[in-house]
Amino acid sequence: MGAPRLASDKVLEPLKGRDPTIATICSHSSLQIFHGARLEGFRTLGIARGRPPRFYDAFPLAKPDLFLALPKVAEIGEHAERLRKEGAVLVPTGSFVEYVGPERFSKLPVPVFGNRKVMEWESDREKERLWLEGAGVRMPRKFTDPSEIDGPVIVKYYGAKGGRGFILAKNRRELESHKIDEPHVIQEYVIGTRYYIHFFYSPLNDRGYRVGDGSLELLGMDRRDEANIDELYKLGSQEELLRAGIHPTFVVTGNVPVVIRESLLPEVFEIGEKIVERSIDLFGGMVGPFCVEGIMTEKLEFYVFEISTRIVAGTNVYINGSPYSDMVAPGLSTGRRIAIELKRAISEGRLAEVLS
Ligand code: AMP
Repeated sequence: MGAPRLASDKVLEPLKGRDPTIATICSHSSLQIFHGARLEGFRTLGIARGRPPRFYDAFPLAKPDLFLALPKVAEIGEHAERLRKEGAVLVPTGSFVEYVGPERFSKLPVPVFGNRKVMEWESDREKERLWLEGAGVRMPRKFTDPSEIDGPVIVKYYGAKGGRGFILAKNRRELESHKIDEPHVIQEYVIGTRYYIHFFYSPLNDRGYRVGDGSLELLGMDRRDEANIDELYKLGSQEELLRAGIHPTFVVTGNVPVVIRESLLPEVFEIGEKIVERSIDLFGGMVGPFCVEGIMTEKLEFYVFEISTRIVAGTNVYINGSPYSDMVAPGLSTGRRIAIELKRAISEGRLAEVLS
């Protein structure tokens, strides 16, 4: 039957009769993306803000073949013609969300790996909840009326960058002692252990763990290091810290590898499967890497608080493969998996199903 067609002939025009160049912004997971692309024989292009970063000189196997240096990455649209001439296929990362924004990104006249429509579902918290709850995935409760609060909560300001400015409260009374004056959401604070699960959905693969017309792969899991929350307990109780004017923040500073109890894998796959199936109904499907971010409680119930519909930086801990991806193919990173999918789409004449 084949997966839905995502890219029009117009989008694919610059790739006619030539090998694509894998391109991304020089940050986030770019080393892994370029490294994986190179292993699969692709030419690579780094989009740099200002001068190309020097750190690539230290990693010759991951240094892009060429750079496009821009004064402001947000103005990437003005350089679309150059990118088309190079046969660029953009691999979306968190840096595109951060520097270009979902609006501008969705309109870029350059081929993108995956379904670009997914970004509008990811970046809008209401739409994200509609998608995930519609898929039948358990999420932390959301409180519209503070009088309903009956346990610990986390308050997230809209547009709070990098987890700064979140408020934690153990109960309604404690929440009332905080001044909250910006648009925000109040969510149940789920107590348990965090897992950031790296999936890859291939609409082309007709073997393995079948979902839709394709196949779902589990490539890894990580946990984020978050400052200052992760180490705050060393300084004293939360009450003491608040009195001293020290507030918790959730700024991601790095990642660590984790695996989950093997008995929980069936649930992990079911969650991934439901999210992919719902994405096919809602917007033609999510293609390629995505990350389900959630908390496993002591009752072994998993609550999803976020989805990232692209490669996440947590995959950087697995540039040479993970305990899961090694059983898909040895030494497989998510960056390399993207390049493999692109290669297969080219050889089977199915680019329209993996690009948009
Ligand atoms: P977010 O900006 O939604 O990705 O959240 C940033 C961080 O806040 C996460 O990585 C978690 O450590 C924490 N967090 C977010 N939502 C919840 C929740 N409902 N319960 C517990 N912790 C949460």
